[in-house]
Amino acid sequence: MEITKHLFFNLSLLIVILFVVLVWAEKSSKFRFSKGCSFVWLLFMIWICFQFSYQTSPHYFFDLRLIPVIIGGLYAGIGLALAGTVILMRSFYGIEPGFYSNILLYLPLGIILWKLYPWFWKQVPRKRIRFSVIITLILSVLTVIVMEISAPPQNRFDAWFAYLMIPPLGVFMITYVFEFAKRNLDMRENLVRTEKLEAVEQMGAAISHEIRNPLTAAIGFVQLLQEQRLPPRKRVEYLNIVKAELESAEQVIQNYLTFSKPSLDKIEEINVKKELMQVLNILKPTANQNSVEINAHFSLLGSIKGDRQKFHQCFLNVIKNSIEAMPRGGQLYIETHYSSSQIIIEIKDTGVGMTSEQIQRLGEPYYSTKGSKGTGLGMMVVFSIVRAMDGNVRVKSEVDKGTVFSFTFPIFKSEIHKD
Ligand code: ADP
Ligand code: MG
Repeated sequence: MEITKHLFFNLSLLIVILFVVLVWAEKSSKFRFSKGCSFVWLLFMIWICFQFSYQTSPHYFFDLRLIPVIIGGLYAGIGLALAGTVILMRSFYGIEPGFYSNILLYLPLGIILWKLYPWFWKQVPRKRIRFSVIITLILSVLTVIVMEISAPPQNRFDAWFAYLMIPPLGVFMITYVFEFAKRNLDMRENLVRTEKLEAVEQMGAAISHEIRNPLTAAIGFVQLLQEQRLPPRKRVEYLNIVKAELESAEQVIQNYLTFSKPSLDKIEEINVKKELMQVLNILKPTANQNSVEINAHFSLLGSIKGDRQKFHQCFLNVIKNSIEAMPRGGQLYIETHYSSSQIIIEIKDTGVGMTSEQIQRLGEPYYSTKGSKGTGLGMMVVFSIVRAMDGNVRVKSEVDKGTVFSFTFPIFKSEIHKD
């Protein structure tokens, strides 16, 4: 069984090469080979086949060069180029009868593969595998016939078995692995595409809902304002409502923008106390509406590094959540602590609290327990801003007791200031 042994050895080399190629493709995460790239590794396969071919007589070489030609021809459309290469390589071993029968086999094969390539890709994967195996089997039979006519081998059973069994088996294994890898890749791409679509859909729905509501309200009040006989006091009140509604629409847009682009635009020194006071000023009316009492206690010192606007947005979202967690009023504590290396900002409320499952899901896009009133984007934006500012967040919460958010940020050390 010399020939069989040799061809099996050939096949194992081809599979090793295939394995290396697949690993490389996986690592560089590109599975779509260019024609040039496919040609290179198929050429390498053919060369390996020639190197390890088995010679029964000086003119006849037994190897598996047929496999790369068929695979390349059907899957990459480079059958003609590969067949030409095989003929060229074979010519280095001498121009004799073996060489001519090589031309007789590979030239028509190259042309047929080239013609078949567009049709081949229109078939379903299962049919592609079956077709590749059948075409290999036909060529194997042809090879055996040519061999029988020109140079009958001494060990007929061995030669027949080797030629009829191993090439179709090899082609089956390789095409199967190909189709498997391709299906995986397609599935992965599909998944990413559907996920993206879903995100866009949800985003569209949330945006239209979240922005349309305040806008409709604003339009309503503007219509009321058009009334001539409106007392000035009412006018001011309506204008305030319009402003608040427009601000809330603006806030939603801001959150979306931060979500899609979480990096910090402008890095500057942020005076924590000053900025938090500003945020509190913005939220005071909302707190009053909900009968929430704000207790602020700031350490005197303390600056951190970051984007001022993002910092506002972050704490606006957190404090708004705290106020919303106390629909029947309560206490909101805002404290900062200062140490030599970090600043801790603590936001504590006496609201509805969260279960551990809710804490776990905090920051997940679109996760909200507020029904149509919530967007489920606030905390996601908070986490992404804090991450961008090298800070971290800890959450402690107890249902019906309240929630504490502690933020830790590295302290800002100005270059001029030296201790
Ligand atoms: P939204 O406020 O639009 O619901 P967020 O991302 O801001 O979305 O918050 C997500 C969820 O986290 C809220 O729906 C709420 O259930 C919970 N949550 C956030 N902050 C608090 C808090 N201080 N107390 C209780 N629950 C909170
Ligand atoms: Mg919120």
